[in-house]
Amino acid sequence: MTEVRAATDEGRAGARAVRRDAAVRAAVEQGLLGPAAPVVGLLDVTGIRESAAALRAAFAEVTAAGTPVLHAFAVKACPLVPVLRLLREEGIGAEVASPGELALARAAGLPPERTVLDSPAKTPAELREALALGVALNADNPQELARIDALMRSAPSRSPLGIRVNPQVGGGAIASTSTSTATSKFGVALGDEGAREWIVRMFLERPWLTRLHSHTGSQGIPLELLARGVAETYALAEEINARIGRRQIDTLDIGGGLPVNFDSDAETPTYARYARVLREAVPGLFDGRYGLVTEFGRSLLAKHGTVVARVEYAKSAGGRPVAVTHAGVQVATRTVYAPQAWPLRITGYDTEGRPKAGPPVVQDVAGPACFSGDLLAEGRALPLLEQGDYAAALDTGAYYFAHHYSYNSLGRPGVYGFVTEGPEERGGTGFATVREPQRLEEIVAESGEAHTDALTTLCAPESH
Ligand SMILES: *Cc1c(COP(=O)(O)O)cnc(C)c1O
Repeated sequence: MTEVRAATDEGRAGARAVRRDAAVRAAVEQGLLGPAAPVVGLLDVTGIRESAAALRAAFAEVTAAGTPVLHAFAVKACPLVPVLRLLREEGIGAEVASPGELALARAAGLPPERTVLDSPAKTPAELREALALGVALNADNPQELARIDALMRSAPSRSPLGIRVNPQVGGGAIASTSTSTATSKFGVALGDEGAREWIVRMFLERPWLTRLHSHTGSQGIPLELLARGVAETYALAEEINARIGRRQIDTLDIGGGLPVNFDSDAETPTYARYARVLREAVPGLFDGRYGLVTEFGRSLLAKHGTVVARVEYAKSAGGRPVAVTHAGVQVATRTVYAPQAWPLRITGYDTEGRPKAGPPVVQDVAGPACFSGDLLAEGRALPLLEQGDYAAALDTGAYYFAHHYSYNSLGRPGVYGFVTEGPEERGGTGFATVREPQRLEEIVAESGEAHTDALTTLCAPESH
């Protein structure tokens, strides 16, 4: 059984690489990518569907029959409306953390009952809207709970409501995405003096509080640590329900955070493995007494996105070849600013979009921005990239090209979804526009064009 599963996982990884190569070739042939459009984001629709199905199957396998499970995609990982619509069709809801993300989820047609709001800085207006819509939300802190109290007194809501806790189980390999450290800004820090008692009292006093939420972190957190965070949250739910004498807490939101393998095409760890680790660590969570909410982001999308950029110039400096491409800090912000924490695989393609062959040469793959650290990869051994070739940054479907950074007023690239019939078939790849490339007029308009004279005509008000 395990062997069969490993073989299918490997087959899926291989098929994904074949589809990616076919898509790059077809993008060049069809003119989506070329001198006039030197950088694009490509999304593998088949791969996204497969990951959504794998997520659903993994939890279906470990939960008691009839357990309500909502998989809410963390919209921040890929805030693109057609992606949210595709996931909706695959049975996946939305976890949103800002008015913008909520608006995207609504535009994609996600109903309130499949949406969860989690931001740490919700304004009264945002809380009022979420409660009016019936969107589930988790109070981050005592002040937010006080606001919710006031709103609940003025109008009843059908929103499922909970409290976010920080189980303080510790951090992972990447500090900036570890949310369960002692001093993390998220949730109520469970181990702090008086915190546990305060939480229990809040539930005792509010029969409408029915959920607990925790999210231990993103990327770099080992599965066992993720499971400890869930176990602590579950133990608290059990304690609260025992103290109250009924099952007031009926749903646990266990967050996201499944790490992604950025070293190869293998999709490891799998959802199936994480679900089994969870069931072993917290068996009571799966016996049907609790509904479940999950909030995976990166693990659903990362492997299915590719940034492809044209090599505008190939040069040499200090003896090192440097390929100057159109993908840098604007589409790979984390990698450029924190290359140790967020390395990306790079693949070369020739001028016609065919995988580049040749002996590996240590080279830099640079971006277009005007600072010397704008490197997609430094000192990487690859077939030598030449002028007119393409460099692809792999595994960039989450937190990369959908997270444009407008340094140097570089435009947002077009994003296209693709499906392929088969690798050898010419014209066998179909594309759909997910997001148009940003036009120069839009860049100028977004940069204050309507207020061109605002500063030259500004006067201080006359004093009296
Ligand atoms: C970012 C975030 C997620 C998603 O994390 P991934 O690592 O992308 O799975 C889920 N829940 C919350 C509250 C988050 O902040």
